[in-house]
Amino acid sequence: PSAMHDINLKPPPIRWSDIGGQDSVKKSLRRAVRLSTEKPEILSHFFDRPPKGFLLYGPPGCSKTMAAQAMATESGLNFFAVKGAELLNMYVGESERAVRRLFQRAREVAPSMIFFDEIDAIAGQRHGFGHGGGTGTSSSGGTSHGGLNVLTTLLNEMDGFEALSGVVVLAATNRPQALDPALLRPGRFDDLIYVSPPDHDARKAIFEGVAAKRKMARDVDVEVLAGLTEGYSGAEIKGICAAAGTAAYDRYMARTGEGLEGEEEMEMGVNMDDLEHAIR
Ligand code: ATP
Repeated sequence: PSAMHDINLKPPPIRWSDIGGQDSVKKSLRRAVRLSTEKPEILSHFFDRPPKGFLLYGPPGCSKTMAAQAMATESGLNFFAVKGAELLNMYVGESERAVRRLFQRAREVAPSMIFFDEIDAIAGQRHGFGHGGGTGTSSSGGTSHGGLNVLTTLLNEMDGFEALSGVVVLAATNRPQALDPALLRPGRFDDLIYVSPPDHDARKAIFEGVAAKRKMARDVDVEVLAGLTEGYSGAEIKGICAAAGTAAYDRYMARTGEGLEGEEEMEMGVNMDDLEHAIR
């Protein structure tokens, strides 16, 4: 079955405030939305050629996908999302059609955004390892074709649409060095947005976000936790909180067996020990 049937998505209701830190990423994406509907006479004051394709790049688990989802939610743009690998898993010819249809649909319902997550799957170096190493035209059925034809179709679509059509095109990768340079040429994905690992304040904000929703013991100190997690991704921090939550729940299970109530029970949330243990 074609993945195209459910490609027009309601974005998961992620908001800017769900993302700890990353202020410059949020700002760049807000600008991208604004640019897509700005008046031409205004744009001409500032740009030779306004950017239309935006590439989020950076290490895994650091909120690239989340940022794209928040952008869609907050701006109210119609949201089309597809993963690079999904396009490769279609029959030959099908993925090219899917890409063309994606752009067509997005234009029809503009203002809208198209999000290619893990774009490296279809846009790896043409002569590097991995996808597209062959001629790209010799596949004869089945689903195991390289990404070259899909990439060519994508590049054609990028070249063919106007910056001011009300369509924002976004892609994400954690392997920017593996991308075919053709993808990054002017008029394509020429606006690069680095999504860094969370800095101290961002890590603190992520812990705070979790603390606001969970039951936390009084000794939990997000400042200290941020200090202990330098170099961790947002996903890893969420993982730490999940592990700590499990540990706290185990304790709760063990002690409610003893008929615990009231004040004592209040002390049973995730505590600093659980979190530090999970970090270690
Ligand atoms: P990948 O390159 O592996 O696809 P990604 O950069 O797209 O990763 P996301 O999928 O956006 O990362 O983030 C993974 C998970 O990590 C999110 O679902 C969220 O739980 C958590 N996360 C990452 N960064 C943050 C952040 N800044 N604030 C809150 N949660 C975050």
